[in-house]
Amino acid sequence: MDAHKHLSADAVFKRAKRICHSVSRATVYNTLNLLVKKNVLKAQVLLEETIVFDANTQPHHHFIDEETGEITDIPWEDLIIRGQENLKRVVIRDVQVIVRGKRKR
Ligand SMILES: [Zn+2]
Repeated sequence: MDAHKHLSADAVFKRAKRICHSVSRATVYNTLNLLVKKNVLKAQVLLEETIVFDANTQPHHHFIDEETGEITDIPWEDLIIRGQENLKRVVIRDVQVIVRGKRKR
């Protein structure tokens, strides 16, 4: 998987099918889940009701282009997040910002 792509399991299956015609949906889904368990991919819920698989497992944010649906990474250091220390009653597992909008022309 390209490090900058965010593909649904179905999109990965379609790409795999082009390369290997006999690959099954179950094989692709099981492999994706195994790669998530091994921290090679990160499962992200960025679109409603769709999990995408992200080859970038380092902390980063996302931009979702509402016109094209394209998801791109925003480097962690490009946004400043403050106030996590105020959340004293939770154990933080993950923090990210999802920016939705459209690209300037
Ligand atoms: Zn990403």
